[in-house]
Amino acid sequence: MTTLTLTQGDITRESADALVNAANSSLLGGGGVDGAIHRRGGPAILEECRTLRASRYGRGLPTGQAVATTAGDLDARWVIHTVGPVWSATEDRSDLLASCHRESLRVADELGARTVAFPAISTGVYRWPLDDAARIAVETVRNTPTAVEEIRFVLFDDRAYEAFARRIG
Ligand code: ADP
Repeated sequence: MTTLTLTQGDITRESADALVNAANSSLLGGGGVDGAIHRRGGPAILEECRTLRASRYGRGLPTGQAVATTAGDLDARWVIHTVGPVWSATEDRSDLLASCHRESLRVADELGARTVAFPAISTGVYRWPLDDAARIAVETVRNTPTAVEEIRFVLFDDRAYEAFARRIG
């Protein structure tokens, strides 16, 4: 039985087995959630990301996929990095956004994570409309079989919180 919960705030302040990072394909850091995770998590995360770039993900992590590293100094065991799609008005990339959620849960299951916190992937720099992102995120995690017991969406501001709250009901 998986419970969906919602909280407002900074994901780097959360305590969970795994925190999901809205990364970019370089895996070498960026703005938004990514920047905050690397800042608070310390250099161990970047070090492992560099190792991944030098091995399995020489060309970067493809959009819609997910990979785990240590969580460094964060209050978690792992960070699961996933790359959301950039919003497009002319091309439907919903499957890729859904894939980020499915793949993150698959990686969480492989690790044995029981609590997983997600930010609102793609809704920042990648400009995905919040209501639609909330619909895709909530529908996907509800429809993905997983041993994760708590899936927590951590929303940074009121607007994002309200959008997810409307979907979760
Ligand atoms: P993307 O590139 O996937 O759009 P961003 O990090 O730019 O990723 O933004 C994703 C969402 O995360 C946005 O809604 C943004 O407001 C939010 N956000 C930014 N910083 C944090 C944080 N520290 N904790 C939780 N959410 C955050």
